[in-house]
Amino acid sequence: MPLPKKTNQERTLKDVFEAFPIAPSSSSKRLLSQAFVLASKAHEGQVRASGAPYIQHCLATAEILAGIGMDYRTVAAGLLHDVPEDTEYTLETIEKEFGTDIARMIEGITKLGKMKLRDEAQDYKLENWRRMFLAMGEDIRTVIIKLADRLHNMRTLEHLRLDKQKRIANETMEIYVPIANRLGIGEIRAALAENSFKYLDPENYHETKRISSEMVSKKSAYLERAIGEIKLLLRKKHIKYYDVHGRAKAIHSLFLKIKKHGGDVNRVFDIIAVRIVVPDVTSCYEALGVIHREYRPMVGRIKDYISLPKPNGYQSLHTTIFGPEGQILEIQIRTQQMHDEAELGIAAHWLYEERKNKSWRAYLDPRRKNDEFSREVKWAKQLREWQKELGNNPNEFMEGLKVDFLKNHIFAFTPKGDVIELPEGASVVDFAYAIHTDIGNTAVGARIDGKMASLDTTVSNGQVIEIVTDKNRVKPNTTWLSFVKTSHAKTSIRKENKED
Ligand code: MN
Repeated sequence: MPLPKKTNQERTLKDVFEAFPIAPSSSSKRLLSQAFVLASKAHEGQVRASGAPYIQHCLATAEILAGIGMDYRTVAAGLLHDVPEDTEYTLETIEKEFGTDIARMIEGITKLGKMKLRDEAQDYKLENWRRMFLAMGEDIRTVIIKLADRLHNMRTLEHLRLDKQKRIANETMEIYVPIANRLGIGEIRAALAENSFKYLDPENYHETKRISSEMVSKKSAYLERAIGEIKLLLRKKHIKYYDVHGRAKAIHSLFLKIKKHGGDVNRVFDIIAVRIVVPDVTSCYEALGVIHREYRPMVGRIKDYISLPKPNGYQSLHTTIFGPEGQILEIQIRTQQMHDEAELGIAAHWLYEERKNKSWRAYLDPRRKNDEFSREVKWAKQLREWQKELGNNPNEFMEGLKVDFLKNHIFAFTPKGDVIELPEGASVVDFAYAIHTDIGNTAVGARIDGKMASLDTTVSNGQVIEIVTDKNRVKPNTTWLSFVKTSHAKTSIRKENKED
């Protein structure tokens, strides 16, 4: 689902309708038209820095939201998102005409809009983060609208003064890109990162862009032959697939990867890759087996993100092979749902909802059992808990945020097979607290993959950890504070040591 990229053309409401992956019903269209009429009236006479009528920005924001599969109410809120802030029409007017759900989303955006773009000061960044988090805890759709709004602003940034361009690009890279990443909205993350990169580091941006397009044009004929050969192979081995296609790595990710390899482009094997989309998880592994039997895989390049998903939920099998015609080629194998979630992240949930024709609220209902999206819901709940815990200490909040939310996570397992998600560098004590506060408080040691280990041992991805507890332990040791990484462990250790 490619994100709409129009920048200069005059958009119309029809473009918004057409951006929906599933055509909106006539009642949805009616509501959207109504929102469009109010937004047009409210913004009448206002122009953007580009000289375009302001309503173009509202339509562009709505179009992006529709394009990633958001529900029509969120898209309507996208049309209206700047109304209370920039015009004489109030939130009450919106609430009267569109109801509380839409009004509350717009209220959230207006609150976020009041973030002042002050200079590099630490407290400004902190304040921005806090507001984003509060908004996320209340209604995640608010933040998604904010991301779409920012994406269109980034696409039209050329019309602003140079100093403003840098400041907004910097804010986008530091705040909006990580949030889009954490929400798993790959398409928006990539587009935001690329547009910020262009203004923050034009030289490297153009160089990376050149490397990418050179590779794409050099390899496109080969890629086509390779895809044909792989399709034939899959058919011969009776592996069902929905799609086999090529993809080019997003520009900013490519830049980071080249940097990671000391500037050596030849060591980056996934500038282009072949993606195989199959119906179910079993077919993923079957397809991998067939590929590996036909083409020799490169040592150490097989990654199973299905069993061990990335922290933002990303799932796929990755392998690098000596592919057709002996050329090195990265292959990514995933189900359709994994594919949608990789591109759309949390937004895919609204799309799936729409497909099932149910209300989005069902997913936020805690009574709902066996919820395939419970990961996200649990995450939103944790977020709120965590805001409560850290709310009083702004510096700690900021630190906690960096570690818990932004750093790469690892996954370890309890002996029963429950997955515990931890930030990189977390210790056995962090693991214990992540299971339960009482287990953290009474931990005395651990068995990692069957071997005894001390509490300060750093946890690695995929380990099975059994915590040894001692009920007679009075309280956690304050020396643990020197090596624990998670906010939850820190606050618990302090709390236990304060209470006597
Ligand atoms: Mn806006």
